[in-house]
Amino acid sequence: MDGMDKATLVINAGSSSFKFSVFQAFQGGLASTVQGQIQGIGTTPSFEARDSDGAVVGREDWADSNTGRVALFDFLVRWLENRLGGVRLVAAGHRIVHGGARFRGPALIDPAVVVELEGLIPLAPLHQPHAVAAIKALSLADPALPQVACFDTAFHQSQPWRSQAFGIPHALSEEGIRRYGFHGLSYAYIASRLPEIDPGLAQAKVIAAHLGNGASLCAMEGGRSIDGSTGFSTIEGLMMGTRSGSIDPGVLIHLMRNKGMSLDAVETMLFRESGLLGVSGISNDMRLLLGSADPRAARAVELYCHTIVKWTGALASSMGGIDAFVFTAGIGEHAAPVRARVCAMLGWLGVRLDEAANDRGERWISAPDSRIPVLVLPTDEERMIAIDTLKTVEGRR
Ligand code: AMP
Repeated sequence: MDGMDKATLVINAGSSSFKFSVFQAFQGGLASTVQGQIQGIGTTPSFEARDSDGAVVGREDWADSNTGRVALFDFLVRWLENRLGGVRLVAAGHRIVHGGARFRGPALIDPAVVVELEGLIPLAPLHQPHAVAAIKALSLADPALPQVACFDTAFHQSQPWRSQAFGIPHALSEEGIRRYGFHGLSYAYIASRLPEIDPGLAQAKVIAAHLGNGASLCAMEGGRSIDGSTGFSTIEGLMMGTRSGSIDPGVLIHLMRNKGMSLDAVETMLFRESGLLGVSGISNDMRLLLGSADPRAARAVELYCHTIVKWTGALASSMGGIDAFVFTAGIGEHAAPVRARVCAMLGWLGVRLDEAANDRGERWISAPDSRIPVLVLPTDEERMIAIDTLKTVEGRR
């Protein structure tokens, strides 16, 4: 029971909802004991929590649309205190999309950090404001609870400048127009798992593919990010669920200059109407597309896999080789046909798939004669945030 008397709250805030999970020390590691979400913020909020077996352990509905974030966090903290019995919440960790050039790791939140996070809102206008709103609300609901910001960008700060730079005028680069990279919490978690799984992978050149609704690749060597497919915004790189991935900027100039599209319309097209959804015209849900007989669904899946393979070539080249390939996140962990297709297209690299192992979703899915091993590793961004949060508050003492 060592350490079970302390709990860490992890918050992932969205526009009208936030997800939470609670981690407690258990058998030398951390165990997620409660998770859930509050949704419908601004309309009719509702709360649901589940235990580690997935059983619903709490539910609440609010009819009043004026029930704001402070009241909802106040409810959550009280509910958790009650649920956790003698266990104390020692810190809350937030997933923050953008840490700019300044944040190279998790940061203990104080008023100055909040100001810096607000200053980064223009770099991630669709995500950052909600995280900042959650931090402010939680500090009003529970002023004594230490809060930590954990950044999706921080893991990529180790990249050499040439991976981070665009070929644009120097003055713009100096202003922060550069590649930052995202999904860093997922990659940090994968990097932390590799040496435990196989010490031979600790120093290896690994390309990890985070294939969820958002999707990207990260080239890492010795557990550090060397290059990646995501750049200044969360658009660059792979085609995603509803995001286009890399697109010739000339298209955007054309659409705005000659087709009368507004800036907002272009943004909506790139972030919400493209990717698997836009190409298929059906859905951004990979499960649905794989099950569909519609040729548009097949084309969307084909283009999705094509961009993964194209970027793998680019990143392997940038890193000067590749020793292993890792699939993770919703599609990477569960969509065997996508993995099979990507592996077949990476045949030129000497990748050979063990089809039965892939169909069963095993950890090692490459055949014994594959030149490089291919793995499926479940990611756990919440756990990474809990680990970083605990380290940060403990380091403060
Ligand atoms: P994430 O953002 O990591 O939760 O991943 C979401 C994506 O994973 C969606 O496109 C889902 O359709 C996809 N996904 C989840 N489970 C499966 C599955 N069993 N087969 C295919 N795709 C899946």
